[in-house]
Amino acid sequence: MKHVTTFLIALFLFTVSKAQVNSQPGYYKMPIGDAEVIALSDGTITLDMNALLFNAKPNEINNLLQQNFLTNKVETSITVYLIRTNNKLILIDAGAGSFMGSTLGKLTQSIINAGFQPEQIDAVLLTHLHADHVGGLTANDKMVFPNATIYINKSDTAFWLSKQNRTNAAEGDKGFFDAASISITPYLKAGKVKSFDYGTPLFPGITALATPGHSPGHTSYVLESKGEKIVFWGDLVHAGAVQFEDPAVTIHFDVDSPKAAEERKQAFKDATTGKYWVAAGHLSFPGIGHVRANGSGYSWVPANYSSVVAR
Ligand SMILES: [Zn+2]
Repeated sequence: MKHVTTFLIALFLFTVSKAQVNSQPGYYKMPIGDAEVIALSDGTITLDMNALLFNAKPNEINNLLQQNFLTNKVETSITVYLIRTNNKLILIDAGAGSFMGSTLGKLTQSIINAGFQPEQIDAVLLTHLHADHVGGLTANDKMVFPNATIYINKSDTAFWLSKQNRTNAAEGDKGFFDAASISITPYLKAGKVKSFDYGTPLFPGITALATPGHSPGHTSYVLESKGEKIVFWGDLVHAGAVQFEDPAVTIHFDVDSPKAAEERKQAFKDATTGKYWVAAGHLSFPGIGHVRANGSGYSWVPANYSSVVAR
């Protein structure tokens, strides 16, 4: 009897702990021309939208969240994208690693679940150096992607790796500088960090687009293949339920809020006109879809699910 009770308690604890782990599949594949884009979940983090969003009209945040069947604390995706093209494996961003708690840092497992190994990654294109994008590059001061070259815009490296900027930063923001430095240093030491000029192809069909504001060197990446196009936005949008309707609403993490809002408006307008695919790492996983105009604002149209993976 004692054993049965122990077994039942163990089963109960196992069930409870299972319910708390990230057990979703965590990857989604879709073709873009001859290339393949694979969304890889790094997990989710819950954000208090009323505390983090600025420049909203009275009650606007709560109203828009309600219209989207959400409440103030929004479980927010952190998604990394893997591009498979011309026998290369290219990551866009690297997730949070161990910097932001146990609900994040799932990228390596998602890469493996999708059928790859971290050692196979040829390049990581970083949109900017915030912890939730750069943290997964390094684990215990070792490179998670030892065969990858890391691409970062010069303005972001200059800003986030500056000791002076860290000293001048508010106490609560110093962690951002530490995370950037810890994550990048092993690659800098190995001579594996490269900068780039905007507009010059980094790989066939892949170019970098200047979208500064959220971070001084914030970069979006464009992939084009066989007439199809997808733009990896980085952090042009955080709160989809609010910011599509009102792109003027900004988030606490923006280094330059007015510029971030301006880039967001421009990106929404351009995506609406261009009708191309967009991949946005903080929209609900897999964060791939289109943008359409909606009155004075915009709407996000998530990709239609497909069970077929081309090629
Ligand atoms: Zn982010």
